[in-house]
Amino acid sequence: MNNLFSLEHAQQLDQQDPLHHMRDQFHIPKQDNGDDEIYLCGNSLGLQPKRTQEYLNYELNQWQKLGVKGHFSGDFPWMPYHEFLTEESAKLVGAKNTEVVCMNSLTANLHFMMVSFYRPSKTRNKILIEDHAFPSDHYAVESQIRFHGFDPDQAMLLAKPREGEETLRTEDLLNLIEMHGDEIALIMLPGVQYYTGQVLDMKTITEAGHAKGCMVGFDLAHATGNIPMNLHDWNVDFAAWCTYKYLNSGPGSVAGCFVHEKHHSNLELPRFAGWWGHDKESRFRMENRFVPMQSAEAWQVSNPPILSLAAIRASLDTVKEAGGIDALREKSLKLTRYLRDLLEQELSEEINILTPADNSASGCQLSLTVNLHVLDGKTVFDRIEAAGVTCDFRHPNVIRVAPVPLYNSFEDAYRFVSILKDSLQ
Ligand SMILES: *Cc1c(COP(=O)(O)O)cnc(C)c1O
Repeated sequence: MNNLFSLEHAQQLDQQDPLHHMRDQFHIPKQDNGDDEIYLCGNSLGLQPKRTQEYLNYELNQWQKLGVKGHFSGDFPWMPYHEFLTEESAKLVGAKNTEVVCMNSLTANLHFMMVSFYRPSKTRNKILIEDHAFPSDHYAVESQIRFHGFDPDQAMLLAKPREGEETLRTEDLLNLIEMHGDEIALIMLPGVQYYTGQVLDMKTITEAGHAKGCMVGFDLAHATGNIPMNLHDWNVDFAAWCTYKYLNSGPGSVAGCFVHEKHHSNLELPRFAGWWGHDKESRFRMENRFVPMQSAEAWQVSNPPILSLAAIRASLDTVKEAGGIDALREKSLKLTRYLRDLLEQELSEEINILTPADNSASGCQLSLTVNLHVLDGKTVFDRIEAAGVTCDFRHPNVIRVAPVPLYNSFEDAYRFVSILKDSLQ
């Protein structure tokens, strides 16, 4: 067997990688010595595609030259601008074009979705989420429960890993749904868990939830742009995601949202409405009788920030150029497998990988803990950062590393493990 843990081998893998050239489409931050950083933090903030600046400048120029007429002029008029993002967004999550829209921020979208899809009654008012959910999701759920006059201590049902385990077992989730399903109004879980990198079985969970009469929605912050999905076929009720992690659309950029088409014509659904959700044919008649769009766009409230949507368009065009999510996933499986193999070969004593090894239960991210008594995770993290690695640390003790297929190389994985090894001395 040739030596996996060598720069030559890593560079050879890069040469064989059909997506290696995509790295040149991104601005890679530099270390003080002028070398590229080993940037493994796309799970937190994706890097800037080179075309982003061009797309933003185009809109700034339109505004300079056209003022308000920019809403209707040019190649990408602002009035329908969100529609230019629809097709590629839909492919990322496996949806029909009518089922997705870019709007608001992630947590705002979770709230808007819960307004429509969390309809608690006296006997069915619980929301099933995970224990240690991302704080924003936890707060959103807790506050929605209070908003409806229920007590979060009673109405929040928390799915926990088993004692001594880090990740959730599908069978345990299904048992929970089976046991408590009649009291659960909404199941809201992550597609990919932010702390462990675990991919949940969204299809099976959705089926089980529906069998018990629950609504089922997913937070796809760590899933969109990371793994392929089929939200439409899986019959998921709703989903929301941000675009600044694996979608490289810039800090705080506008989020994405999915609403299954089966809900589009249901006029009984409560919603917090705004003019941008009104039927676009009659939106500007200003008649003040709300007629919702027959699509996910019905949940839009405001006219969106075009500069942010331009950055999303740049990102989606970059993904498209790479061949779409299936091509990215193909590389991602190899790249993350290589990183895992190196860690297991070189550091099996010192480093523990929380992320499941199974392809169906993992995306690009690996979550690592340090097994040494003499060194804690934070110290190791500080050392690798000083040596040119950008990744992140999540309390209490996890180092998250996400080699992303769009701009990370096999050489990045090799260099990371090499620096990690030195840092554990
Ligand atoms: C990144 C992330 C968020 C961030 O929410 P914003 O509304 O975009 O600030 C929320 N939930 C999860 C699970 C995340 O990973």
